[in-house]
Amino acid sequence: MKISKIICAAIASAMVLAFAGCAEKEKTTLVMATNAEFPPYEYREGDQIVGIDAEIAQAIADDLGLELVIEDMAFDSIIAAVQSGKADMGVAGMTIDEDRLKNVNFSTPYTTAAQVVIVKEGSEIASPADLVGKKIGVQLGTTGDIFAGDIADATVERFNKGFEAVQSLNQDKIDAVIIDREPAKVFVTQNEGLAILDEAYTIEEYAIAVAKDNTELLDQINASLAKLEESGKLEEIIGKYIKAE
Ligand code: GLN
Repeated sequence: MKISKIICAAIASAMVLAFAGCAEKEKTTLVMATNAEFPPYEYREGDQIVGIDAEIAQAIADDLGLELVIEDMAFDSIIAAVQSGKADMGVAGMTIDEDRLKNVNFSTPYTTAAQVVIVKEGSEIASPADLVGKKIGVQLGTTGDIFAGDIADATVERFNKGFEAVQSLNQDKIDAVIIDREPAKVFVTQNEGLAILDEAYTIEEYAIAVAKDNTELLDQINASLAKLEESGKLEEIIGKYIKAE
């Protein structure tokens, strides 16, 4: 009896060890947090999430030998998802920004972008300086939201999706929308009677957000991005979605 108890205990502890070993097994997925409402960077095509960021993330996952998993969420939930480890990285046309840098690290930038102003054709708003005192629509938690808050006497209307801000402008509920240039171009093509002001509001850079303590992944992403840039693959992906004017 005694001996079999000892054997049982030995088997039990071996099983516990085996389980512990399983839990620590190599990671096989690379989870990307995004907000698939941001063409041409991430948007839905049928049940697929496609776009520049989706393809860049896929190329990085391929390079690292990991399976890409895309988690679609509100834009302003992405940083928290990365911080908590729910996602490994945020790839969402995300602008490098001082405040965000307090909570996450950013990879090397993979593209230059801009905030632009969308107005109704024939609007009295002819340049960003004319936005003073106006009703401005933005997407919640974006750099457009931050900038609009700095405009004197402006009223800022925050929407969950950039497209909803554009619809509101279409319905004359607001005077202008501040949003990233490439989505702005897509939204303006989909809605008649809108125009993008020639003068950009700001120039920014997009990068991939990674948890502060995950410097190993940050280094791997940066190495992959460097390879993609050198091989011309990055330019190829961007060129597929953004046609030169
Ligand atoms: N580039 C903007 C930002 O980082 C908007 C990104 C987005 O809406 N996906 O805030």
